[in-house]
Formats: sequence, C-alpha cells, structure tokens
Amino acid sequence: MTIDLEALYIDLHKHPELSFQETRTAGVAASHLRDLGLEVHEGIGITGVIGVLRNGSGPVVWLRADMDGLPVAEETGLPYASSATGIDPDGAAVPVMHACGHDMHVTAMIGAVERLVAQRAEWSGTVVVVIQPAEEFGAGARAMLDDGLLDRFPRPDVVLGQHVTPLPAGVIGVRPGPQMSASDGIQVVLHGRGGHGSRPHSTIDPIVMAAATIMRLQTVVSREVDPHDLAVVTVGAVHSGTKNNIIPADANLQLSLRYPDEQLREKVLEKVERVVRAEAMASGAEREPEFSTLHSLPATINDADATARAVAAFQAAFGEQRVIDPGLFTGSEDVSWFARDAGVPLVFWFWGGHDPIAYAEAEANGTLDRDVPTNHSPFYAPVIQPTIDAGVTAMVVAAREFLD
Ligand code: ZN
Ligand code: ZN
Repeated sequence: MTIDLEALYIDLHKHPELSFQETRTAGVAASHLRDLGLEVHEGIGITGVIGVLRNGSGPVVWLRADMDGLPVAEETGLPYASSATGIDPDGAAVPVMHACGHDMHVTAMIGAVERLVAQRAEWSGTVVVVIQPAEEFGAGARAMLDDGLLDRFPRPDVVLGQHVTPLPAGVIGVRPGPQMSASDGIQVVLHGRGGHGSRPHSTIDPIVMAAATIMRLQTVVSREVDPHDLAVVTVGAVHSGTKNNIIPADANLQLSLRYPDEQLREKVLEKVERVVRAEAMASGAEREPEFSTLHSLPATINDADATARAVAAFQAAFGEQRVIDPGLFTGSEDVSWFARDAGVPLVFWFWGGHDPIAYAEAEANGTLDRDVPTNHSPFYAPVIQPTIDAGVTAMVVAAREFLD
C-alpha cells in the first residue's frame, strides 16, 4: 500500500503547530515511520522523532527534516489554508501557518523513507530519520542533541537535509562551502527614566534613545563592514511605552544579525554593542543597556567533497540544467549542529516549490521580489506537485549516494 503523500501534505498544512508544540505532527510522522517498519523513538528533544532503518552493514546516513509552523495568519486563499491558532511562549493566542514549508519537509521525508524501504534490496547501511522540532527557534537541533541523540542512536557518517524554497519546482539549489549565514538574535534593553509626557526635561526618554540607536545601527553594515563582505543588521522588534503622555522607563529592541563568514560575528557584535552603549551615553542614561542572546546559530557550511557527490547524483536524477548554485543565503538554520557535534560532513540543499511558469514570468518581468512570495510570507505556499515528487527524489538520490 502506498502512502498518499498529497493527502499527507494537505493534512499537515491544515494543522500547523508552533515550535516545541509539534505533538500532532510528530505523532503523524512517527506512525508513518512505524508503518514502514522503522524502529521509532518519540519525545526526543521535547517533540522530536527518530526513525532507524537498519539494512545490513555500511554507512550511517542521517536524514533530517524540521516540522514546526510559524505565528503567521495564512493569506494564500488555498482550499487547504490553515485557520489554526496556537499559544506563543508569551502566552498570547496567535494564528499558526506552515509559512516556512516544513510540512513539505515532513511529507518529502516520509515519501523518501517509503522509497528507501521499497529499494532496500539495492543498498545497505543504516538510515536514521531525524524529525526535529523548533527549527524556527533555532533550538530544536540542540534540544535533540542534548537529549543524547549521538549516544542513543547510530552515529552518522554524513548528515543530509533539504529546505523547500521559492525556486521553480523541479530545481535543486546547492553549493559547496557556505550556504547559509550564521545568525545571532540579540535583545537589548535601553534604560531611561520615566515621567510625565509634558515634562521631558525631567526624564531620560528611552524612545528617543531607541530611535537614535536604531538609525545609528544602520551604519554598522554600510560604514563599518567591508563592502566585499556580507552582513545584515536588522532591528525586528521595538517595544516601549503604553500611553501618549507617559515617557516610559525603558525600551526593548530585538536584533537579527547575519554573517555567512563566522569571522565577522565577533566584529559585528562588538560594533553593535559599541553603538548601543554610545547612544545610551549620548542620551545621558544612568544605567548601562542590557544585552541578552535570543539564539546563536552557526553558518551552514556544505562539505566540499560530499556536496560534489550529491550534486553529481542530483544532476543524474534531475538533469544538469535543474541543479543550480542558488548563491549564499542570508537566512540561517540549526541543521549544522547535528553534523558539527558528530564531526561529520553536512550537505544541505534547497529545492524549488514555486510554479515554474509563474516563476519564469516574474523573472522575465523583473518582479521576482514582488510576485514570488518567500518563506515566512503569509502568501507562501509551494505548489503540491511536482514539489513533493522532487523533494522525495532529491532525498532518496542523496541518501543512496552515501549508502553502499
Ligand atoms: Zn523558517
Ligand atoms: Zn524553514
């Protein structure tokens, strides 16, 4: 009996779950893996799932998928659009959507395992399926590793993973070396002195301090990072104040910092900290700003030799024209922790999920940025096919390349 992958995808898409709350998704994945004859372990790193497929002696290949949704209200208008809600870590009710396509990752993984099971006479080795929670927190891979992943299950010789992206469906994007950026999430609390909005001279206004800080932070990349280097400094959240006539006591900023070259990390962090402290001083702040780390992710670096093998396998399966270098992504991933902790090569690739005709039109019109929604957009939704088939094929082809 074959698994209806399209129905599986639609079911997962309709039922997205927030990071570390993926109990239903994990249950669905685990039951499929069990039906396929794998040895299944649940609740690894809170909600993670491990499936072990032993098939004689040979290499151990880890296949990784992530499974969490995002607090986004879906606006795709699709008949299977999500209307789910969840409770975020602050206790707020939020809409939930598979806006990053992790439902597609789980679907393709189940399809790939089904095919590997069907082909088991043709290969030998061990496949370990790693379905991780909370990629969007940058915390799920670490949670699984902290739960003894490397000691409890066969250690990998190689770690493979894939992410659906708005390339044309049927296209694979992968490059050796740096593929995605390192990233730090930083929270900054600027301390002022609150008071009446009519008496600003008796206060230290943290909102003005925050505004000046935000503007000055724009010069870190434009004025201080070598134009040949890639870095991003984004202030993604600003919270301060409750009412028009009250000057609040502090302001809270959340920053997203990105650099594919990890050597830039210390430099950018130092520059950001210097600007924040200097603006606080310029405002006459009586307390130093406070810094805390929200997350810290490594760069996603594809092993050169392993990636060359995967690329050759992809080219044979998809055709040379359909395997491209997608360039360096400023997005970040926590998949690297699996390979780094195990000390083995990583190959992480992107596969297209956008309607190829619509993509070609947007490209011809020069409107890719406007007309092709990206991951995390409320309009992001891969076309079901050929995206599922391509994701299954890519994962199987890559896995087989590294199995005997
Ligand atoms: Zn994402
Ligand atoms: Zn993602």
